[in-house]
Amino acid sequence: MASLTSGAFPPPLKETEKNALVEVVKDWAIANGLAVRSPPTVVPAETDPAGITAVNVPVTLFPSPFPKKCFEQGQAVQQTYNELYAAVSRDEAFLEQTVKEVIDGDDFIRNLWDVHLKVKAEGYTQPLSLGLFRSDYMVHQDSSVSPPSVQAKQVEFNTIAASFGGLSAYTSKLHKFLADTEYPLLQNALAPNSLNLPDNQSIQGLAGGIQAAFHAYPKSELGHAKCVIFLVQGGERNIFDQRHLEYQVTQSSPTIPVFRLAIADILKHTTLADTPKRQLLYHLPRDPSKVFEVAVIYMRSGYHTNDYPDQTAWDARYHLERSGAIKCPSILTQLAGTKKVQQVLATPRPSSTPSILSKFIDDSTPAAAELWKTFTNIYPMDTSEAGLEARRKAQDPELCKAYVLKPQREGGGNNIYRSAIPEFLKTLPESHWSAYILMELIVPPPVSNIILRNGHLEEGGIICELGIYGTCLWNQGTGEILHNKGAGYLLRSKGDQSEEGGVAAGYGCMDSVSLV
Ligand code: ADP
Ligand code: MG
Ligand code: MG
Repeated sequence: MASLTSGAFPPPLKETEKNALVEVVKDWAIANGLAVRSPPTVVPAETDPAGITAVNVPVTLFPSPFPKKCFEQGQAVQQTYNELYAAVSRDEAFLEQTVKEVIDGDDFIRNLWDVHLKVKAEGYTQPLSLGLFRSDYMVHQDSSVSPPSVQAKQVEFNTIAASFGGLSAYTSKLHKFLADTEYPLLQNALAPNSLNLPDNQSIQGLAGGIQAAFHAYPKSELGHAKCVIFLVQGGERNIFDQRHLEYQVTQSSPTIPVFRLAIADILKHTTLADTPKRQLLYHLPRDPSKVFEVAVIYMRSGYHTNDYPDQTAWDARYHLERSGAIKCPSILTQLAGTKKVQQVLATPRPSSTPSILSKFIDDSTPAAAELWKTFTNIYPMDTSEAGLEARRKAQDPELCKAYVLKPQREGGGNNIYRSAIPEFLKTLPESHWSAYILMELIVPPPVSNIILRNGHLEEGGIICELGIYGTCLWNQGTGEILHNKGAGYLLRSKGDQSEEGGVAAGYGCMDSVSLV
């Protein structure tokens, strides 16, 4: 496969140059909060019982070359993606249909759907819905044409807890700093203008979405101050990513109060007002006489089965869903982000019938045509004709090598890759197979870089995944869109021998793009 760069990249470095770069990155990262709380493998809990230490997040020493065309494609389609997923969230019948296809083999999705049905029966009281989305892509290279053409292909679309927007803006800044100060000093110097480093406004962009929802929420009729809640997991290590957003959200005039609430503590620290609007009230734990009305609940948890250890946890999610707070996301929006929905959206129909996209957006626009091009082949694992064909490929020891099998889960570590698929299917009752989708693997062109992880350098081939953030605030009843914007980007890279790429899950690292 053709490389993305003409010269050697990254430039060959002397040992002394590597050491100098490591020194600079180590300090810049901590000085700027490009950090995570120390993993126990690096700083054992007994050495740091108060949990005060932090280490820099794994990061590349150089920005990775990334095709400008693909970067621009991702940016160009984001607002259309926002609109599409807002419309999918509003189409309860469509979501019911897709949910039905997976719930036999998936209790988590069934529980989410049941919470929605319960709230629907008594009536939702908040018409506004907020999405902080991230659409993830890899570069697909078509080498059959000369010169090879590239195309951004969507890996997945995240509608809940899309993370790393806080750290990614700082990764872009780190690489910009190195380009100004360090790369020109190398023996094989990179001139500052030899890199094309786009601005990354992910923090302002994502915080802007939360602020828009906060301001759209009316003044409290109950006489309380309004606030924003970040609903988090206990023991979160990727906390500075969240803090960067939080600090930016507060920066409004007047200041917006933001509180962090662990998902396990919802019922302990919040109540619902006994009014038709069921306002969500937050009681400050250190002084319960101080009560705030929650305008926006931003979820950085709630997407994983571990977040729901018992029925009380589901009761707590129900409590939030039936409240008058603006949810980011609502359960319907969370369900719109399943891989099953992505598969249905990406499935072409016979040319005589309109595309499924036309159900949700005007599919005749150039932006919709570009969006369509970002889809890759994804198949159902059900008993339809396409599903049976996918089942055959998934069980074939040779054909399976081109695919990844995905359940309806988020947060990394859930997929089954290539040759592991047939064995995995044998462990599952066939009646549960339709809870999965089969997706063609995207094989991006080779890129090399150097990763600094826990003080050690890892050099070699990497695979890059681009995430484009977007924010959308809409009226679930009328469909009116009050806010729809792109919100910066994320580049995550992983060693080319690794299947999964999650930074938090320990497989990947932060990176930024140098457009080529
Ligand atoms: P999650 O919601 O858990 O993040 P993803 O669909 O993003 O699930 O899959 C996790 C990782 O698996 C991705 O970050 C990527 O590294 C890899 N992956 C997923 N789908 C594909 C694909 N079609 N081609 C290549 N790699 C993929
Ligand atoms: Mg992902
Ligand atoms: Mg995901």
